[in-house]
Amino acid sequence: MACDARAVLLVTRQMEGTSTNVARQRIELYCSLTPGHAGPHRDEKHAQEWLVVKGRASMVVRDEDEDAQPRDE
Ligand SMILES: [Zn+2]
Repeated sequence: MACDARAVLLVTRQMEGTSTNVARQRIELYCSLTPGHAGPHRDEKHAQEWLVVKGRASMVVRDEDEDAQPRDE
């Protein structure tokens, strides 16, 4: 049994030579933690955490630039 909270993850990429971010992938996230857990929800499969703001749709944006150097987060 899992918390099963849901969110949508938008993976964006910066267009070369511009400051425009375009969405390139849309992934549905499902929380795999136990029900009633503390802290943010987490989708282990996609290694993504998110917080729920009451009354708002859960939307997570992750910026992924394929040409960028690997960086620590
Ligand atoms: Zn959860």
